[in-house]
Amino acid sequence: MTQSPASILVVEDESSIASFVSLYLKNAGYGVRTASTGNDALNQVAQDMPGLIVLDLMLPDIDGIEVTKRIRQTSDVPILMLTARDEDVDKIIGLEVGADDYLTKPFNPRELVARVKSILRRSTPDRRDLESETIDHGDLHVDAGRREVRVAEEEIQLAPKEFDLLWELLDHRGLVLTRDQLLERVWGYTFAGDTRTVDVHVRQLRRKLGDASPIVTVWGVGYKVSPAKDAKKDPPKK
Ligand code: CA
Repeated sequence: MTQSPASILVVEDESSIASFVSLYLKNAGYGVRTASTGNDALNQVAQDMPGLIVLDLMLPDIDGIEVTKRIRQTSDVPILMLTARDEDVDKIIGLEVGADDYLTKPFNPRELVARVKSILRRSTPDRRDLESETIDHGDLHVDAGRREVRVAEEEIQLAPKEFDLLWELLDHRGLVLTRDQLLERVWGYTFAGDTRTVDVHVRQLRRKLGDASPIVTVWGVGYKVSPAKDAKKDPPKK
């Protein structure tokens, strides 16, 4: 890649973890800043938006979920959340409030670097070929260039990965995509990941889109897009 490497903000109060995460990311070529509290993180984000945030869930002041919520009010910056093994419910909430992915402690730092790379790869390049593309499906209107979703005339706010997942499914309407395929295409995993990430994002899309959600569960396989309900507006052919 020709562009300069992204800067990464590591938010972690345990200094031993913060320093080894920083070390591995620096060795992978990223510029790294650190914050040890949620407020410190929000201040740094307000002054200078990083390219990605590695965010520990448990922080001494405001937790990672609250930090994510506040950042999402103004920014789509990718967020990789770090959670402890017993914080299962919390990491699901983390995804629901707009984190892009999570890693459970203890983790292999090489996996952290791999996740960071894949998140950045998915969030920056090759959006260009989508620029002028839109898809209409029943009441749903999705504009890939503007990253806008409307149901009838109402704009729906989606987290970045929710948008990407919806687009991926709509772009392959008629096909069933497995959870692993969706992880690979939307999250950029090249290894087996935790497919619950996909399920959580589908649940959020259904909640936000309501009756306009076109996503159908294919039991034991994955997800697909249902035919558009409004027969007068046939979806454009692929
Ligand atoms: Ca912590």
